[in-house]
Formats: sequence, structure tokens, C-alpha cells
Amino acid sequence: MIDFPSRDQTNKAIERLRRFVECESPSYDPVAIADGLELVRQELGASGFTIISSLQDMESGTFFAEFNDSGRLSGRPILIACHFDTVHPVGELSINPWRIEGDRCFGPGVLDMKGGIALAILAVELASKKLARPVRILMTSDEEIGSARSRERIEAHAFESLCVLVPEPARENGGLVVGRHAVQRYELQAKGMPFHAGRDPSRGQSAINLLARKIVSLEGQSRPDASISVGVISGGQWVNCVPEKANAEMICVTSDVKSREALRAIISQEQVENFKIIPGLERPAWVSSVKDHELYSLASRVASELRIKISPEISGGGSDGNFTGALGIPTLDGLGPCGEGAHTHSEHLHLSSFVPRAALFANILCRV
Ligand SMILES: [Zn+2]
Repeated sequence: MIDFPSRDQTNKAIERLRRFVECESPSYDPVAIADGLELVRQELGASGFTIISSLQDMESGTFFAEFNDSGRLSGRPILIACHFDTVHPVGELSINPWRIEGDRCFGPGVLDMKGGIALAILAVELASKKLARPVRILMTSDEEIGSARSRERIEAHAFESLCVLVPEPARENGGLVVGRHAVQRYELQAKGMPFHAGRDPSRGQSAINLLARKIVSLEGQSRPDASISVGVISGGQWVNCVPEKANAEMICVTSDVKSREALRAIISQEQVENFKIIPGLERPAWVSSVKDHELYSLASRVASELRIKISPEISGGGSDGNFTGALGIPTLDGLGPCGEGAHTHSEHLHLSSFVPRAALFANILCRV
């Protein structure tokens, strides 16, 4: 049994987390992402990992690293699927700077998922001498924008692995994730008719006006088992023109086949000649399998030995666990720390959850 990390080990992990958080890494910023991936490579190298990046990995904005205790370990590896990108633009640190206030540790991406990455590295360090098989970390950089580039690499690495562990934030009650709903992204395209807006706007047809009405109508039909949310809009070019084009991005999460059908019905009803709803990236539904539950049962036994409370949860939000879980590869998600405010200006994790969950993670690594 691996015990809780010492104060010294924990402090080092939190210091590493500070370096991760202070290296801002929004998905859309290739320079920031490159700096971020380089930082993690260095940190993993310092923790005894060997960096093994194929050209395919690098071209998809990912790299992977293996810990095999100087060649001692063999057999099918355990894969830890991580993403270093965040939804926070460079500069967010001035709004939500790295700081520790009591039990709360703040900063952009501190919970989703830089805290999870720091926790996973600490877990490998704690488990290093007791591991029975190699541990691999796959680090991607486009999870927050749908994992278009990295999906194929995630799936390829997962197929080579015994199981996949994902250090996304814990559920609010500390629960682990054993299944996730399907996530579908769409592009909305509204088309109008231009006219001189200063002369007589009523003689044109505003694409912005149409899009706005459609967004209100679509979001108005959002429901707990089929959520609809528009997060990005653009349109028009000159204020003195009735706008001809307006676009938006929409994300929908459905919990089962029935809700997916309900969503499809809403979408086909809202589509008209001048308004198109085009499907984009998808995260398939991850329906928990027997193997996922076996992995959870192992975690549950470890948790009760460590006197940590966990539960198996199905999560609404997507993660890269959707891909591996949907493929039937044993997957356990939500292994990161507990916290609040992911994707907001007050994102923080609870330090009191970091130590026990690092021990939980380390013991799972040794026993699978
Ligand atoms: Zn995440």
C-alpha cells in the first residue's frame, strides 16, 4: 500500500503545478502551446520519464512519455491521457493569478487539467518502485476545442494499452467518472440579403437578426438530457450594410439515444433555406462497460483502504475519455483533484483533495 505523499513531495508537486499554471496555454495559441508542451517534457524528463514522440504524435500537437523504471518494467502499459491546453487566453493570469488562499489554489487551468497532470506525475513518482508495468502519459493540446487533431493518436495509443486513466477534475462530490454523454458540435450559418443600412435597412435581410432569433429559439429548447449552447458568434463587416452572413458555433450534449433523436428533431425543425446547421466534431457517448466497472471497483477498494470517499458517476461534459471508453478500452476518468469554477475567472482546486487523490492514483497504477 502506498501511503499519502509527504509534505515535501506534495510541496514539490504544487510548485510544479505553479509552473504549469504560469505557462498559459490556450488551445488556439500555437506559440503558447509549444512552450507549454516543452515545459511538460522537461518536467516529465526530470521525473524519470523517457520522451518518445513520433512524427505523427508531433504533427498532431501531442507527445508521449513512458516511465519504465530504467527498463525494469514490461507488459502492456497503462495510459494516462492528459491535455495541456486550457480555455483561458494569455493574460488570464492577471484576472485569476496563481495564488493559494487557505485550501483553495487558484489559476487558469489549475483544475482543468493542470492540477490533474501534476497529480498524475506525483502518483507515478510515488508508485515508481512498486509498478508492475510501464506507465505512459499522452499529452495533447487540443482537447478544449474538440480533439480533432489528436483523436487518432489518442485512440492509437489507447489500443496499445491495458487501460486508460484520465486526470480530468473530480466530480463535485469527489466521484470518479465511468461514462460520459455524447457531445456534438455544430456550425450555424445564417444567410441574409445586403442593403445600404443607412438608406433603408428594411429592404435588406439581416443575417445577424436571423441568427439571433435562431439562437434564442434553439437554446430555449435546451433540456437536461439534451443541452444546447451557443458559445461563439460572428457576422457582418460594415455597420452601414445590412449583414449578409452570420455564423455561430453550438455544442450539444445528449445523454442517450432517445435524447439524441429529440435533438435531431429540434435541429431539423430549425433548419430553413437561409439557416443551416452543420454537424462538426463529435465525441461519442461512452457507455460504461463491465471492464470500466472492474477498473472502478479496483479504485473503490483502494479508496476504502485509504478512507477516501468516491462514487461512480456519469458525466455530462466530454473528455478524451469518450474516445477510449467508446472503443471499449477500460477507462477511468475524473481522477484529478476536486475543485470549482473550471472554465471561469475563479477556477481553483481544493488542496485537501490533492494529497489523498495522488495516493489513490498511485495505488491504482500499482494494482492494475
Ligand atoms: Zn479537461
